[in-house]
Amino acid sequence: MITHNIISVSGGKDSTATLLLALERKIESLRAVFADTGHEHAATYDYLEYLAVETGVKIERIKPDFSARIEHKRDVVCGKWRNEGIDESIIEAALSVLKPTGNPFLDLCLWKGRFPSTRARFCTQELKVFPIQQQVFEPLLNAVDTQDIISWQGVRADESMARANLPESDEADNGVINYRPILCWTAEQVFEFHRKHKVKWNPLYEQGMGRVGCMPCINCNKAELREIALRFPEEIERVKEWERIVGLASKRSASTFFAPNTAPGNPMGTTLDTAVEWSKTARGGRQYDLIAASDNGKQCSSAYGLCE
Ligand code: SF4
Repeated sequence: MITHNIISVSGGKDSTATLLLALERKIESLRAVFADTGHEHAATYDYLEYLAVETGVKIERIKPDFSARIEHKRDVVCGKWRNEGIDESIIEAALSVLKPTGNPFLDLCLWKGRFPSTRARFCTQELKVFPIQQQVFEPLLNAVDTQDIISWQGVRADESMARANLPESDEADNGVINYRPILCWTAEQVFEFHRKHKVKWNPLYEQGMGRVGCMPCINCNKAELREIALRFPEEIERVKEWERIVGLASKRSASTFFAPNTAPGNPMGTTLDTAVEWSKTARGGRQYDLIAASDNGKQCSSAYGLCE
């Protein structure tokens, strides 16, 4: 009987430290998995390749496939939308873009006809939690020789109130044991652990990013958006194009990356362009609060540590 140790690696510092800790402890039956949203900075993909070489651990890319759901959405557009009297030009526009692109984040938004938001945060579940459950945990749970499955999660208590309340270990409903070995570590300890093992951290931390992951994340704050726009304008251009495409898949013929009215007085719900321009100003309430810079319950609080 085998105990499987699964580590969710995001390319961020905490999950990297967790992987290094497992290696230091010489844990057997170790698998590193990366839930690929298709919305990461190229530096993160490069970093994951570096990390695999440096540690000798293969990092498996896990991706969801939304093809069937996009196909079903086409049926909805052709049937329900027409029956509702939606303008034929809107239907044609939607059908012109409702085709799987192979990019999980974009395909998810095409299927939904909108972007995720702090209030409808379906991205973590659809792009990370479900794919890992379906493609990694469920086959192991069904394997006859599985004794235990231990899910190593690189979360730290000082990241948020939600994470501060987590225990170091607990059991999920499906029997998977959640293990959070760096729960009480500080960020400095995490970086120090990289130094100890002579493993570099993701270079994005040295380029103004407080966290790595989706570029940008729907939870990014004003300062982060400003930094992304200044340093990585190509990422902004990519998402602006996504706004155009997802807008065409929407019944309203419009969709913005940042949802309307996510915080009082902010310009979200216009376009990413407007949000970027606003991020360069001192307007809009607290200087660094674009959406939810503080731990007010709007931040991603995935207990799995899948979103940094
Ligand atoms: S990093 Fe942000 S945008 Fe990406 S899946 Fe997590 S919450 Fe969603």
